[in-house]
Amino acid sequence: MKLWNFILLILLSCGSSSSAHPNLKVVVSFSILKDLVENVGAEFVTVTSLVGPNSDAHTFEPSAESAQLLSEANLIFMNGLGFEGWMPRLVESTKTKAQVVIVSQHIKPRTFEINSSLSFDPHAWHDVKNTITYVDNIEKALLELLPEASEIIRRNASNYRQKLRDLEAWIYKELKDIPSQKRIIITAHDAFGYLSDAYKIKFLAPQGLTTESEPSVQEVVSLVNKIKEYNVKVLFVENISNERLIRHIAEETGATIGGMLYSDALSEKDQPAATYIDMMKINIQLLKSGMLKNK
Ligand SMILES: [Zn+2]
Repeated sequence: MKLWNFILLILLSCGSSSSAHPNLKVVVSFSILKDLVENVGAEFVTVTSLVGPNSDAHTFEPSAESAQLLSEANLIFMNGLGFEGWMPRLVESTKTKAQVVIVSQHIKPRTFEINSSLSFDPHAWHDVKNTITYVDNIEKALLELLPEASEIIRRNASNYRQKLRDLEAWIYKELKDIPSQKRIIITAHDAFGYLSDAYKIKFLAPQGLTTESEPSVQEVVSLVNKIKEYNVKVLFVENISNERLIRHIAEETGATIGGMLYSDALSEKDQPAATYIDMMKINIQLLKSGMLKNK
């Protein structure tokens, strides 16, 4: 065991007289990671998310409280791939000694050329296989800091990976009978590229990979034309973005709103997407019923 880990364990174990086991203070950038880390770390972690449920990590503005949380953290997880553009500067400003783990490492990112420079699509969690890799990375980081809890952490990670594999099998089964000409979906921003590749659904969106910029009039007109051309009957709003644009496009095209997809954040606890698995299930069910209405 590294000396630092050993000292950390002593400090953590002495932190509370009422708890018999160590407890790491973990800070994550957004709500989906909070759920993943809690599934693996369970009673050994207390996880705080900088960006809360139903909130947009692209446009998040860190507060003094965000900096405070990071400076008190034992371990930090972020998505990477440009999702949390504000994070590196925030980490730097706090001088935190906690390790910052990028959970998307080892996945194969989708790339895009924007203004002749290469960008990554950060929304990798919409392909369940990538989320399994996220869990591998989370498990590895927790094992380094909690060696005496290794048996339980390994078991938690392995059980959760099995649940994710079951989720993916369920997704394939749900979607298998939908004919290819109906497999087209319109949503607010380009968050579902990985879902599109993994589960063979075509997505179109007026807003690009990030919600930071508004689409131009030409982009909206081109989307309206595509909706008419492909005979798309249902559009989707997202929990993190403004519904106004999608409602406007629905009026222009005569399409209806098929519901709210959870793209970049989980819902509140009493709403339908409080966990990653519930989020994927509600999205797939909504997408399926929407696609079946397409001509
Ligand atoms: Zn996004």
